[in-house]
Amino acid sequence: MSTAAQPDTAKHSPRQRPVIAIDGPAGAGKSTVAAHLARRFGFLNLETGAMYRALALKAIQNDHSFDEEAALVDLAQQTTITLQPVVDGNRVLLDGVDVTQRLREKDVTAAASKVSVHPRVRAWMVAQQQKLGGQGGVVMEGRDIGTKVFPDAEVKIFLDAAPEVRGNRRYRQVSPAGQPVAAPVTEEAVLREMKERDERDRNRADSPLQPAEDAVILDSTALTLEQVLEQAEAIVTGRMQQSR
Ligand code: C5P
Repeated sequence: MSTAAQPDTAKHSPRQRPVIAIDGPAGAGKSTVAAHLARRFGFLNLETGAMYRALALKAIQNDHSFDEEAALVDLAQQTTITLQPVVDGNRVLLDGVDVTQRLREKDVTAAASKVSVHPRVRAWMVAQQQKLGGQGGVVMEGRDIGTKVFPDAEVKIFLDAAPEVRGNRRYRQVSPAGQPVAAPVTEEAVLREMKERDERDRNRADSPLQPAEDAVILDSTALTLEQVLEQAEAIVTGRMQQSR
């Protein structure tokens, strides 16, 4: 696993720059908020979901079962996942090959939430993520950043929205108006798959999706994108002033 991030030389020393943890369910707007905050504050943006997706893709490519924890950990150890920060998120290389688009496809999306239930897979991922973000100056987005990866993050935002709103946003992403899509897709199907994935993420035994006790909950159900970005920015600014 590697990124274009700085090396981990300061793991046990106090961070000079903050870690901003953005957690929440699918379709809540985490990627948009994380990319915006990273640009606004000049921080590195790391999408941890892309790591689980990349491992899931490797399992698909190698005909591995998503249920065999030990085999998945072995596979992870033989894998190089590179996250390259770009303006709206990360470009992802799997063993040197750009798989950024492939990772968004339906089979990989479902498989990512299956490989991510295994505690040893999670432990491996969390260790990588702690190395990548250990120096701070990073916006890290996922499901367990504020609870597990960086419980001491300076800023924690839990982004949420009503399931129907999240489903509709996801639908418009996978099937933008006027754009041909590979297979016919309905809003109901997108919502159903999203709910299944949420269900798995919230109910797994290890690090289930839930807000950290000290996270600020930002519910975007009734907010415009501009309002969400404005409020997220205000939360970061407020927290950073408090911790000075
Ligand atoms: O965020 P994204 O939708 O790309 O994440 C894909 C899947 O990876 C999630 O549904 C979840 O199962 C898993 N994941 C996780 N912990 C993270 C990030 C993602 O379990 N920190």
